[in-house]
Amino acid sequence: MADLSKSGNNSEILEWTENPSSFALFSDTLTALPSPDPGLKNSRVKSKPGFISRIRNLTHDTYEVVVEYENDGDSFGFRAGQYAVLRHKDIKKPRSYSLAKAPEAERPFELTFFIRYVPGGEFTTWLTAADRTGEPLTVSGPMGKFLLDGSTDPILGIAGGSGMSAIHSILEYAAHAKLPRDAYYIYSARSQRDLYCQKELEVLARNWHPDYKLHFIPTLSREPAKSKWRGVRGRGTNHVRDVLIKQGILDVSKARAYFCGPPAMIDDGIEILLAANMPKHHIAYDKFEDMSSPAPVIDNTKCVLCDECLMVKPQPTCIVDVSKLNRGSDGTMVGYERVVPAVSSPLYYNTLFIDEHECIRCYACVEACPTQAISPANNRNPKTLRATTTDVTD
Ligand SMILES: Cc1cc2nc3c(=O)[nH]c(=O)nc-3n(C[C@H](O)[C@H](O)[C@H](O)COP(=O)(O)OP(=O)(O)OC[C@H]3O[C@@H](n4cnc5c(N)ncnc54)[C@H](O)[C@@H]3O)c2cc1C
Ligand code: SF4
Ligand code: SF4
Repeated sequence: MADLSKSGNNSEILEWTENPSSFALFSDTLTALPSPDPGLKNSRVKSKPGFISRIRNLTHDTYEVVVEYENDGDSFGFRAGQYAVLRHKDIKKPRSYSLAKAPEAERPFELTFFIRYVPGGEFTTWLTAADRTGEPLTVSGPMGKFLLDGSTDPILGIAGGSGMSAIHSILEYAAHAKLPRDAYYIYSARSQRDLYCQKELEVLARNWHPDYKLHFIPTLSREPAKSKWRGVRGRGTNHVRDVLIKQGILDVSKARAYFCGPPAMIDDGIEILLAANMPKHHIAYDKFEDMSSPAPVIDNTKCVLCDECLMVKPQPTCIVDVSKLNRGSDGTMVGYERVVPAVSSPLYYNTLFIDEHECIRCYACVEACPTQAISPANNRNPKTLRATTTDVTD
């Protein structure tokens, strides 16, 4: 039985571990590897039990949340710009959050997040409804390839809302490493009451490489006209276009852009930078997608069954190996049957499928796939599948 867990058969382990009586059939080696989420065994995603050790207001709707995780001898080991997934027992699905500090600036076994309250949002409503200090959480990660490039080109950071987190982490890393490069950080907020991390960024600017400069430029889009705000008004992306680019302050064709935050702001900014001749490969972004975004879909004609997506998935059953995809008379997908060892035929999967009800839109699989087989753009049938899904494990 254990041989079936060869690469590519992750979900077989899931099937068996979900059933304690069958789990006993596995060797002691597996039972000796306790994990807060058995479904993530054999994964590159580390999953650690922890708890909220501190939480404080950064603004009226944004919180700094510090999670302390268990010291099991294996550090979380993230890089600046990456994100993690937080899971609480009372919340149906985990949520993704960028790591807000550079690894060098974190205390041992702590991870810091900047989390913004979303009205009606399940996780953030729970988080902010009471003092959650001490609440147990599972933290999984690190994830993402939103990492600083190795060049000495100027950095152009553009963030909005809680997108401050990943850009702050990257700039904190750059300041610690004394990287020999200039940086412009445009932070978009609505009004003064939405600004935070001002002092922290001043400290980073003071600690920057002495021959280079970090320019931090907050912009306010909805600040009352009569207020005493003397800084930039309007959208951050407009400031990039109308001031940095048009006034020749930054030659974006030789800079590297890092966007983080709302998808609409990022799409807007990318358009501006491409029009100003920034090479496409100089643009990196971390979009804060949510469940309103389309789930990615696997194009199985491009899939080479390398397992990379299975190794990074944060949810045990967001990507499943299926023995059969059921289609309706019009050819659209209406359900699937999962591979179960010794039950399904064929024994080895040949088709991977993303269950949009389990997918949390982290896009880790999209980044991991070496053949570009996974993309939200493949999703031509974003309607619900749950009602018609035939899952032989149910
Ligand atoms: C890679 C990644 C990194 C992220 N990092 C951060 C971070 O550092 N800080 C942070 O605060 N968030 C971050 N997010 C967003 C976060 O994962 C959640 O989507 C967000 O906190 C909302 O969760 P919720 O459970 O409160 O809302 P949900 O219950 O998931 O959503 C409730 C409703 O609100 C809508 N909604 C959800 N989010 C938003 C939104 N942002 N704006 C408008 N409508 C929304 C949904 O479409 C839904 O209709 C990140 C997302 C991704 C994919
Ligand atoms: S985006 Fe991919 S890896 Fe992330 S939850 Fe969805 S299917 Fe899983
Ligand atoms: S979808 Fe991509 S990452 Fe996943 S197994 Fe296929 S080729 Fe590998």
